[in-house]
Amino acid sequence: PLLGNEPVEDHQITVCVRKRPLNKKEINKKEVDVISVPTKDQMIVHEPKNKVDLTKYLENQKFRFDYAFDDSCTNEVVYKYTAKPLVQTIFDGGMATCFAYGQTGSGKTHTMGGDFQGKQQDCKKGIYAMAARDVFTYLKSPKYKPLNLIVSASFFEIYSGKVFDLLADKAKLRVLEDGKQQVQIVGLTEKVVDNVDEVLKLIQHGNAARTSGQTSANSNSSRSHAVFQIIVRSPGMHRVHGKFSLIDLAGNERGADTSSANRQTRMESAEINKSLLALKECIRALGMKGNNHLPFRVSKLTQVLRDSFIGDKSRTCMIAMISPAMSSCEHSLNTLRYADRVK
Ligand code: ADP
Ligand code: MG
Repeated sequence: PLLGNEPVEDHQITVCVRKRPLNKKEINKKEVDVISVPTKDQMIVHEPKNKVDLTKYLENQKFRFDYAFDDSCTNEVVYKYTAKPLVQTIFDGGMATCFAYGQTGSGKTHTMGGDFQGKQQDCKKGIYAMAARDVFTYLKSPKYKPLNLIVSASFFEIYSGKVFDLLADKAKLRVLEDGKQQVQIVGLTEKVVDNVDEVLKLIQHGNAARTSGQTSANSNSSRSHAVFQIIVRSPGMHRVHGKFSLIDLAGNERGADTSSANRQTRMESAEINKSLLALKECIRALGMKGNNHLPFRVSKLTQVLRDSFIGDKSRTCMIAMISPAMSSCEHSLNTLRYADRVK
């Protein structure tokens, strides 16, 4: 890793990119790695050699972000520069969000949930678990202990514009918005948690629910957004003090698939496309005054996260994941361009 400095603490929006290593399958296919990370904040897509249509790739494309993580970076390192600084935000009474964005297979779930095989040790290595670990550290610290805050967690999935509770057998839930534009997911399970192990159990449970009943060829998890939330509440009134939403987004290539012959696939794609575009607008507007006209209601994702995009204390981080293979070049460029425009 080229990173040396401590993370910058005062950004309201942080945008980072992470490149994963070539996997065995890609190596066996003699795939070429076309992505490089020359400095701690740059990523380059190199001109593919022997490519038929060279007009699209006449020059190497260079992008700059807050941080660029190369394939030697561990989840722990990525966490340190992305979600970790946001733990402070929720204890200071703000809303924090961290998004994993990218094409299917680029490393979103690996980064957020850890490489779980249904075992606790596996999900321990993901950002969900590391954030939970630090939430409990803050909770017990001399500064925040006197607040007697209560920690709880929720885990849900947004699939084709509908919300499903991952902690309650994927029960379908309704989203209500009152006159004051307060959004509520009716009946969403919110479990009080006293330690990291209890959180790990919930993550494991939700992960299992998320992947149940799907084949690898037709994976629903690539077409849905998974939202894991850590909520801290004040005692007594149970008012929300701060909320941390950690989101494993649907594969961005799914949004582009609008010409499919299958009507359901086409509708899902349109929904994903809409939500990712709305998300970009909502993040960009973070911290701006008079952002009432924002397209929160355009998609379920941005609607349920509405309160995370308003207010001076809201902070967001996006990690855009990149597959290094030449065959992913087009998707990688799309991902980098999207991330480039978020800020
Ligand atoms: P996504 O959720 O974006 O579809 P995954 O997280 O499932 O992608 O990653 C696809 C595969 O690549 C998984 O087998 C995962 O373990 C592996 N992988 C992803 N990122 C990394 C990484 N940084 N280092 C090693 N393996 C990775
Ligand atoms: Mg995934």
